[in-house]
Amino acid sequence: MIEINHVDKWYGPSFQALKDCTTSVTKGEVVVVCGPSGSGKSTLIKCVNALEPIQGGEIILDGIKVNDPKTDLPKLRSRVGMVFQHFELFPHLRIIDNLCLAQEKVLGRKHEEALAKGKKLLDRVGLTEHATKFPAQLSGGQQQRVAIARALAMDPIAMLFDEPTSALDPEMISEVLDVMVDLARDGMTMMVVTHEMGFANKVADRVIFMDRGEIVEDAKKTDFFGKP
Ligand code: ADP
Ligand code: ADP
Repeated sequence: MIEINHVDKWYGPSFQALKDCTTSVTKGEVVVVCGPSGSGKSTLIKCVNALEPIQGGEIILDGIKVNDPKTDLPKLRSRVGMVFQHFELFPHLRIIDNLCLAQEKVLGRKHEEALAKGKKLLDRVGLTEHATKFPAQLSGGQQQRVAIARALAMDPIAMLFDEPTSALDPEMISEVLDVMVDLARDGMTMMVVTHEMGFANKVADRVIFMDRGEIVEDAKKTDFFGKP
């Protein structure tokens, strides 16, 4: 599903953020990316859907080469769900409208269809009663669950998470992780940058450890955490 082959990434001429990174995520697999701050985790995730260009190697997403000038990047990105540390909901739109917008504008779905899908997903993340509120009226944990639902509304082939819980108060972390665990168990292909080792231990198939731009460990969870 996601193939990362010998990827080099430079920020400017003198700083190499990714060094010969090779890994892959197969369909239905959950891969957790961890490592110290500044080791390139966020950069690696961003390169997967071409939010950052790469200078060497290749990334192939569902058979499509991401770093090929002929690739339709907006279309490709619309098929990969991305959830960031900050929720990035549209503040002036009600929750349900946040869920409908891209479905209608990018996928061209009719409003009724987008609405039905949006409601179903709000129910899935346990926020049905908040549909007509604005983002600022929700807690951080609730907003992050909306962000996940919004990404899912696009029927993504894979989901990328970049520290989805690190901006949240401790008591809200588990409500977001619960939604992610549910997704993982449902067979979603996921690449997750997180420091939540409890989450990794529960659902990760593999754990990648990065250090100074290199993938220094890429192991099955049982090898990483020891046998249960
Ligand atoms: P992590 O997610 O592991 O904390 P990042 O991928 O965010 O690491 O960053 C890796 C390195 O690249 C860091 O040294 C960071 O300062 C640098 N970096 C990240 N984004 C940029 C950018 N847009 N321009 C220049 N350097 C950057
Ligand atoms: P994250 O790790 O969640 O991407 P950061 O706080 O590291 O968030 O970075 C926020 C933004 O600043 C990103 O767009 C990143 O690319 C950019 N950035 C990070 N480090 C640097 C840097 N050393 N020089 C320039 N831009 C940077």
